[in-house]
Amino acid sequence: MTENIKELDKQYIAHAYARFPVQIVSGKGARAYDENGKEYIDMTSGIAVNSFGYADDEWKDAVMAQLGKVQHTSNVFYTEPCVQLAKALCERTGMKKAFFGNSGAEANECAIKVTRKYASEKKGADCYKIITINNGFHGRTITTLAATGQEHYHELYQPLTPGFLYCDANDIDQMNKLVSENKVAGIMLECIQGEGGVNVLDKQFVKAVERICKEKDILLIIDEVQTGNGRTGKLYSYMNYDVEPDIVTTAKGLGGGLPIGACLIGDKAENVLSFGDHGSTFGGNPVVCAGALNILERMTDQFMQEISEKGRFIIDSFKDAPGVETVSGMGLMVGIKPVKPAKDVVVKCIDEGVLCLTAKDRVRLLPPLNIPMADLEKAVQIIKRVIAE
Ligand SMILES: *Cc1c(COP(=O)(O)O)cnc(C)c1O
Repeated sequence: MTENIKELDKQYIAHAYARFPVQIVSGKGARAYDENGKEYIDMTSGIAVNSFGYADDEWKDAVMAQLGKVQHTSNVFYTEPCVQLAKALCERTGMKKAFFGNSGAEANECAIKVTRKYASEKKGADCYKIITINNGFHGRTITTLAATGQEHYHELYQPLTPGFLYCDANDIDQMNKLVSENKVAGIMLECIQGEGGVNVLDKQFVKAVERICKEKDILLIIDEVQTGNGRTGKLYSYMNYDVEPDIVTTAKGLGGGLPIGACLIGDKAENVLSFGDHGSTFGGNPVVCAGALNILERMTDQFMQEISEKGRFIIDSFKDAPGVETVSGMGLMVGIKPVKPAKDVVVKCIDEGVLCLTAKDRVRLLPPLNIPMADLEKAVQIIKRVIAE
């Protein structure tokens, strides 16, 4: 890597990230190239963001066409891509309204605001508690950190936004207890905890949560920031669980590489937000939305079936493989717990030309959704070898 970049980064970038010593200078599809021309197979998609890999032509054409027309107005005017994207998202999920922001955290902030306002109007101002799941992840703002059920993220930033309660994953009794002992406005969860280590929640648990929400008029918020937009082999991961959320939040892969967050609101709360209640300067940006529309249009049933098949290939490849303790995941979101430290595996894989991620004690794989089978096979072979060594 050019020493200069490393030095400048150290001097001028806030030290919030521990980077791997690789500078990505270009890419195409599932292949990335560093400054020395070394090629990598990308099993990260920039953390589930580049849905069709690097510099995808169709997506780029959609983005560039809009860029040449209007790059931004503000939300006091109409633009077509934003409205068309909202329509496509609502039609494909059954949700009624979309609010656009620029990130996952903002999508969740919107969901939390809608939930609090809904409960306050229907059940009174003292009903504001939101239950989330331990080991989940919902963002880095002060409120979404509070929603994140991981103590170690909370320590440095007290006091966080009050009003959050935490339940262990798959513990229905604990959930029932929390709901009966508190005034609860919403329950928020990821069907598959991404940052938490690719933990797939039990269907029984998620169904039970849905039932509790329906009975008590509690809003069910599903955080699809990482799991959404085809990643698990369905458009949204909750579609694997046969549940109907009241609010769906998404971000990461929706933009195909440009920043967007969306809070989709179902019929219960569709009219909760009124003029002036919420806003975002960049939210619904026409360039980003034009790209997202292209991403969404390409999420056909056939394409998502291929995602499921590729996911099964990965899981089957690592199940019972030497040096592997457990494998979890769904579609192209897979976590592998190696016997040796996950970080060591990732460092060695990068050395061997495969980019991958960690999540807690797991190696996390999030390849582009259109990764060619040959690249996937090659990457899996290398990761397997590194884990077995
Ligand atoms: C990444 C992530 C977020 C936060 O998204 P940002 O765009 O980084 O704000 C929230 N929830 C989940 C499940 C995520 O994976």
